[in-house]
Formats: sequence, structure tokens, C-alpha cells
Amino acid sequence: MQTLTSYIQGRWHTGSGASVTLYNPTTEAALAQASSAGIDFKGVLEHARAKGGPALRAMTYAQRGALLDALSKAIHAHRDELIELSIQNAGTPRSDAKFDIDGAIGTLAFYGRLGQELGARTFLYDGPGVQLGRTARFWGEHVLVARPGVAVHINAFNFPAWNMMEKAACALLAGTPVVEKPGTPTALVAWRIAQLCIASGALPEGAFQFIAGSVGDLLDHMGPQDSLAFTGSSGTAAKLRGHANLVRRNVRVNFEADSLNAAVLAPDVGAGSDTFNLFVANVALDMTQKSGQKCTAVRRVFVPKERVDELTAEIVAAANAVKLGDPSDAAVRMGPLASADQLRDVRAGIERLAKHGRVATGGAGAIRERGYFVAPTVLVAADGRHPAFHAEEVFGPCAVILPYSGDAREAAELVALGGGSLVTSVYSNDQAFLETAGLAIGAWSGRVWLGSDKMAEQSLAPGMVLPQMIHGGPGRAGGGEELGGLRGLSFYLQRVALQGFKGVIAPDSLCAQKNAAPTA
Ligand code: NAP
Repeated sequence: MQTLTSYIQGRWHTGSGASVTLYNPTTEAALAQASSAGIDFKGVLEHARAKGGPALRAMTYAQRGALLDALSKAIHAHRDELIELSIQNAGTPRSDAKFDIDGAIGTLAFYGRLGQELGARTFLYDGPGVQLGRTARFWGEHVLVARPGVAVHINAFNFPAWNMMEKAACALLAGTPVVEKPGTPTALVAWRIAQLCIASGALPEGAFQFIAGSVGDLLDHMGPQDSLAFTGSSGTAAKLRGHANLVRRNVRVNFEADSLNAAVLAPDVGAGSDTFNLFVANVALDMTQKSGQKCTAVRRVFVPKERVDELTAEIVAAANAVKLGDPSDAAVRMGPLASADQLRDVRAGIERLAKHGRVATGGAGAIRERGYFVAPTVLVAADGRHPAFHAEEVFGPCAVILPYSGDAREAAELVALGGGSLVTSVYSNDQAFLETAGLAIGAWSGRVWLGSDKMAEQSLAPGMVLPQMIHGGPGRAGGGEELGGLRGLSFYLQRVALQGFKGVIAPDSLCAQKNAAPTA
């Protein structure tokens, strides 16, 4: 059995004491163990502050971009090995494993390019300057400077590669050293990636540390220049949000949590049209890709009330056409859930929801003797406003079809009942419907994806998170924001208002100095 080690203070550390076992969710065989016991967590932060931070801040954006590019290439060179590990430890078919690993490679490459485009800078201007005096001599500029702190990243189990590297890419490009802690049940992939990153030689010492297992008392030692970015359940987010030291020292925090994502089909979309087919295909994809363990997967599907039976039949057929089984079989498109805990939680969640609606296909029952499998499950609600369907995220292959009147404003109101989502998709060819629903939903959903005949052929599915666009959502989705090109760096940088003589602080002057001697 593999022992996952932590990379801390410039060496690989093997945990002493009790460890957590990682399993193959298809066979239930034990694969590895992880323990962070014995780590000096205060020392981890000090190491990052003393070594990694200064080394990164001495580099220009272009140099940090080259570093990210080197990491992207180092991971890409081991893509097949990582896909195999993901199949074993996360139960993902090859296509889903690629989704995670290519997501990590692509996001690093994207931020690598961005860094190179930013060139020899060590800080960034934020928007145009402002005249503050009677004349332009007294001038103001907002600039973004690197913070001399550490970024602690606590990640969810469902995207061990992408989740770790999308966060690391933004922090490293901003000049911030990282401490990465993956979700333990699927940490094998993240651990191998950490090994590859360290072995690449691209990272200055202290810029990247990795913890296999619990974070111990790490958060107790974080300070005012540090930042915590968390992805996981709203339960854990609530605990961390109230962490005494984080509150007392005003540590910057970003939370990415649960989300009851929605899809809305407008009444104008006729059966067989491109938009209709896209709607059915995307709902089925979201339900089955990564066995529904995707933070952006659709959980609530709003359809005009008189079309509930028609749409239920279409979605059930599409979801059941997906071959379920051992993810190492090339024909399989949906594997098991990632862990025994997940199986228990998803079954319990389906049972709770099924009390308030009809099960059109699937259900909580066991479907295999071995492995953490659940069938794709479609529920149908009689009442689109029933609170049960707007309160709980079942983090598995489960979606609920909810009737609504067909009115765009009502659709937006129903989406809002979920208390804040990561993404909502709206399908229509009616400009007025798209505009009304899209803008009204915007306040409740970090991303609004508008599907229509005109974009159907080129569109990427709504569940796909792209580095160019922000990821995160209000309310129960955590209230956080990641990625979005340069926006993703703001969390790690300090925005400072510089006020003084224009000749000193305007881009021509500061830029000229900074190009000669990086000081940020
Ligand atoms: P989780 O149980 O909340 O765990 C998330 C992370 O927090 C793991 O690394 C976990 O470590 C760690 N953790 C748990 N308790 C902690 C504590 N007291 N102090 C410090 N760290 C702690 O969530 P999960 O089951 O891994 O992930 C599934 C959830 O994540 C779903 O609800 C999903 O919607 C959400 N998610 C959201 C997004 C998004 O971008 N909004 C993306 C992906 C997933 P261990 O694994 O070692 O317990």
C-alpha cells in the first residue's frame, strides 16, 4: 500500500501515528494511506514566508508565467499515468479523469501565458489614474502589489488535479507561496502532481508545500498577510468561516461551497430543435459526468408545467443511455462515487428528496455488490416551490425536474430559492426571455449560461469552468470568486491607492523604475 507523504520545509515528510486510508471506489480495495501527524504547521508557514515568498516576489510576472508553463508541461508529460491513478482512486472513467487533469494542465498554461503577456512588471495598475488636485500634478493611481504572506488552499475531493492547480496558478502568478491540502479520499492524484511539480525544479524553495492528510493547527498560525481559499461543503465552510484565529487576525478568505445549480427550459424551445437537444444532453452530462460529483452540475431542472412528462422521458432516456460500470473499461462513461462516505450521503440525500417527489429512474438502492455505485436518478416534483428541492445538494448523479409557469421572471424567482448558485443555464431562442431571466438570475448565480440555436454547435457545457471566466457564486455557493483571467489574482494582491505627484506615480514613471529594479 502506498504511503502519501507531505512536502514541507524543503523535504518529504512521512506522517507518524494514525492515518486515513484511501480506497479504490470500484473494488473497495485499500490503495494508500495519508497522515500529516508530526508536521510543524507553524514552521510550514514560516518557511513559505521566509523562502518562497521573497523568491517569487523577486521574479517578474513573465518569469512567474514561465514557471507555471513549466509546471503545466511537467504534469502533461505524465498525463497517462495520472489518468490511470484517477481511474483507480477517484473511480473516474478516462473521459472524466481527463476533464480533471487536462483542466489542471490547461489552467496552468493559461496563467502561464497571461504572466508572459504581463512581461517585466512586478506590480499591476488597476484601472485608469485620477486627477485629484486642481491640476494633474496631484494624481491618484490604484496599484496591486504582492502581499508578503502565504496562500493556504484546502481543496475538495472531486477535482484533485484541477482544484489544486487552478488555485496554485493564480497565487503563484501573484507572487504568493502556496500550501496545498487536497481532499483526502482522492489525494493520490494530487500527491503525484505535487511530486511532479517539485521534481520539475521550476519552483523556488518554499513556493509550493503539500500536505497529505489533515491541516492540524495550521490555521491557528495564519496572519494578516495570509489568505485561505477553501473548496468543499457548506458545512466545513461554515466551520472555517468562524475559525477564531482567522476572524481575530482578519485573514483573507475565499469560499467555494455547495450549489443547487439550475437549468431553465423556456416555453419557446420545441422538441428536436438544436437548443432542445443541447438542453437534454447537458442535463444528462451533468448528472453522469464524474457521477454527478461536480460542483457545477445541475441539480434543479425547471421545465414548463405542461411539458413535465415529455422532458422527464427525454432526460431519463439520455441519462440511462450512459454506460455505467468499472471505469477502467473504455466503454464505460460513469463510474462509482468516490468514497464510502459519499455513497452513504448520496443515498440518504436521494431518500430524503424522494419523500417529496416521484422517482422517474434510479433511486437510492444498491446496484452492484461491490463498489460505491448509485444509478443516475431523476426525480419529478409536483410543486416547483417545494422547499426540500431548494435546500439540499445531493452531491451525486441526481437531478430534480420542477414545473414552472413558463414565465421568465418566475423562473428567476425559483432559481433564487436555492440561496445562491455557481451556474444557471437558460435555454431559449427568445431574446426577451433570455434577457429577462438572464439578468434577474445574475444576482443569484455566479455564471449565467445562455443556450440557443445560434451557439449550440460551438458551446462548451455549462458545467465547464474556464480560466477566462470567473468561478464562484453568492450565498450558499460560498460567496467566493476565483479565476476570471487577471481577476483571479486580486485575492492574493493588495490594492493600494497611491496619491502624489503624477510624475512619480503615473505608469510612465513607476513602470520605468520597476522595469529596472523589481521591488514588489
Ligand atoms: P468537505 O468534506 O467539506 O472537505 C473539503 C476539504 O476540507 C477537504 O480537503 C477536507 O479534508 C477539508 N476539511 C474538512 N474538515 C476540515 C476542518 N475542520 N478544517 C480544515 N479542513 C477541513 O467537502 P468534500 O466532500 O471534499 O467536497 C464536496 C463538496 O465540495 C460538495 O458540497 C461540492 O459542492 C463542493 N465543491 C464546491 C466547489 C466550488 O467550486 N464551489 C468545487 C468542488 C466541490 P479531508 O478530505 O482530509 O477531510
